[in-house]
Amino acid sequence: MKDIENKMTNFITNIIDKDLKDNKHSGKVITRFPPEPNGYIHIGHAKSICLNFGLALQYNGTCNLRFDDTNPTKENTEFVESIKNDVKWLGFDYGDNLYFASDYFDMMYNYAVELIKKGKAYVCDLSFEESKEHKGTLTVAGKNSPYRDRSIEENLNLFEKMKNGEFAEGSCVLRAKIDMSSSNVNMRDPVMYRIQKAYHHNTKDKWCIYPMYDWAHGIEDYIEKITHSICTLEFEDHRPLYDWFLDNLSLDHYHPQQIEFAMLNITKTVLSKRRLKKLVDDKFVDSWDDPRMPTVSGMRRRGYPAAAIRNFANAIGVSKSNSLVEYEYLEFFIRNELDEIASRAMVILDPIKLVITNYPENEEEWFDAKNHPKKDEMGTRKIPFSREIYIERDDFMENPSSKFFRLAPGTEVRLQHAYHITCDNLVKDENGNIIEIQCSYDPTTKGGWVPGRKVKGTLHWVSAKHAVKATANIYSQILTVDSLNDIPEDKEFTDYFNKDSLIKKECFIEPSISDSEPLSYFQFLRNGYFCTDKLSTKEHPIFNLTVSLKESKDK
Ligand code: ATP
Ligand code: MG
Repeated sequence: MKDIENKMTNFITNIIDKDLKDNKHSGKVITRFPPEPNGYIHIGHAKSICLNFGLALQYNGTCNLRFDDTNPTKENTEFVESIKNDVKWLGFDYGDNLYFASDYFDMMYNYAVELIKKGKAYVCDLSFEESKEHKGTLTVAGKNSPYRDRSIEENLNLFEKMKNGEFAEGSCVLRAKIDMSSSNVNMRDPVMYRIQKAYHHNTKDKWCIYPMYDWAHGIEDYIEKITHSICTLEFEDHRPLYDWFLDNLSLDHYHPQQIEFAMLNITKTVLSKRRLKKLVDDKFVDSWDDPRMPTVSGMRRRGYPAAAIRNFANAIGVSKSNSLVEYEYLEFFIRNELDEIASRAMVILDPIKLVITNYPENEEEWFDAKNHPKKDEMGTRKIPFSREIYIERDDFMENPSSKFFRLAPGTEVRLQHAYHITCDNLVKDENGNIIEIQCSYDPTTKGGWVPGRKVKGTLHWVSAKHAVKATANIYSQILTVDSLNDIPEDKEFTDYFNKDSLIKKECFIEPSISDSEPLSYFQFLRNGYFCTDKLSTKEHPIFNLTVSLKESKDK
């Protein structure tokens, strides 16, 4: 994992370097990755994971995996387990540093009582609509709630009743008492607690009030002694509130520092758990780990190596301005990594039969083939050869142009690892379609390499009688537009779902890969990188297209 040790230099490391020099935060670096377990994590989260865990490694600090599980109706343990698994698969070890915001609910409650006692929080009975109306707008100041001046005793009493479940959902909330005329709307007496009579995956039925993100997050960071609390740019305007809450509590150690960076966006896909959930719920895709999904589990199943995702995350770096990264850039890192680690194999995706007329009927030969042309340590495998083989339909042309470097009548080509063959004859059906190509082979060319002898090209092939039928899932991007911003307001993003994002093909594979382990990486010669699907079996092998061999030119 050399990439993990690569040092980053960016505006965040500049801040940390300065903090360490000034001995701020007692000279420590403690970060956290704080997912809400309301879905599977995606490549945007992967970027945040690489950043937070990467900084901890770089500075000999720690990074906590903390579930920000404050919204029980949308969260569950399936999501918790998937996220734990995905973080580990990405290559990061949170060790014992696994936390749940819900473990702090008692402490948060006590801190809220402290604010009430200081006259800095109050129970407000305005309805949802009324408080919206009181909130004002970006240009119009808000109005004080009529409940703002309740006495401390009354507030303590009401808040306790809220906690004890004596009030209906939506009937009241606890709000911080800050400033209804602040130019920052986040500071206009934000809600700290709402009533939600919901079952929580961790605390079960203990609570019927749940903390809001802004209130909870800073306290979670404080309790865990986080030094640098890194989040995405949309929280920049929340930072004064983050600080206000911590500054107004009596705390006995340093106050974590919120730092914002631009979130990752990638062309032709969606990075938002809410939208990804819609694709799953409305059956646009099969599951959260459908290989088209930009989720970590989807990318894993698609065949993206974890190291490639880390390299990508490192290469895009962190910045202060939002941008859209082309998915081709991610694919570049996938190819780079797979070129090193993928075993080579021969697979015919669109077969046409080829008969070698001068090869004995019942004979077969098994050739040794290297699994990687440059890596002897990856070993060899046996490939069967016989009189009838399949080649790709588009590797033959009856009337070729001068630029066609494959098989045509009268031309000689090399069959990879086998022999040179020359096309002598074609068999057609009654409609004139070619159903069989007839060739003769040159027995002196065994192994396929004859120094100094020029052929039109080299083809991959599989022996017809040894070939195993398999399914190849040919994937492409899930959106037909680059960005959600390209979608008109009156349209749904699902209107732009790419209906051709999965094309299933029956193909013929060489027998050596028919019982490959799920998640094995392959380069199907001349066809692309593929990965054995998790549902693949010896009886029915399934391979997922990870990425093409080259970036397509017709963009
Ligand atoms: P989503 O809208 O997809 O649910 P989120 O930010 O609400 O995203 P969380 O589970 O709350 O999801 O996020 C956990 C962490 O991941 C946060 O620190 C968040 O800032 C970060 N994160 C989420 N999306 C991205 C992204 N696209 N790029 C970088 N970081 C991200
Ligand atoms: Mg969220």
